[in-house]
Amino acid sequence: MVELIPSHDSVMQILKRTGAFREGHFVHPNGKHSPHYFQMPLAFRYYDTARVLAVGLSRKFRVEKDISSRLPKISVISPSSGGIPVAFGVRDALNAEQIYWAEQETGARRFRQYVNQGEVNPCIIVDDIIRSGNAIEETVRLVGALGSAMIGSGAIVRFTSAPTEIDGVPVKALVEFDAPMYDSENDCPQCKEKVPTEQVRF
Ligand SMILES: [Zn+2]
Repeated sequence: MVELIPSHDSVMQILKRTGAFREGHFVHPNGKHSPHYFQMPLAFRYYDTARVLAVGLSRKFRVEKDISSRLPKISVISPSSGGIPVAFGVRDALNAEQIYWAEQETGARRFRQYVNQGEVNPCIIVDDIIRSGNAIEETVRLVGALGSAMIGSGAIVRFTSAPTEIDGVPVKALVEFDAPMYDSENDCPQCKEKVPTEQVRF
């Protein structure tokens, strides 16, 4: 029997092997410190691992009757560039009809021009990682303004500090990660041990 949805451990192995999951002493743009960092595009640079992750996530959507019964009249939407390969992989696995992605343009999340009211199918919003849920929430508002509804959302990794549902729709993930984050040097164990820091850009 083929493993239908890869386990937490096998996903973490893929993320470690590809360099997407990194251990060390990271300083984030908001000043917080953490012993882990996810650079998810590194897992999506290889076709084989990208496919395992996207197909695995797609299976979490396919079992939802509200989703499977509407296929292929569904759109798969990424809130940002990091989620684009996830969206293409999930779209492919579900054979969904449409794909869209939003981009940050002068500080605001938007779709490209000329995506019109009424054109967007009911959607599944997917990202590579959900840290706070803000990107998905903003994208739900974008699709709502175009007359479409979000019927599913998810990512390869969800931080356990992020919401488990958005707009009443459960958030799916292959890995639920309890990410320790320290507000300052004073609470950070790596700082106390004088581990050299790495500044991360996102
Ligand atoms: Zn530190």
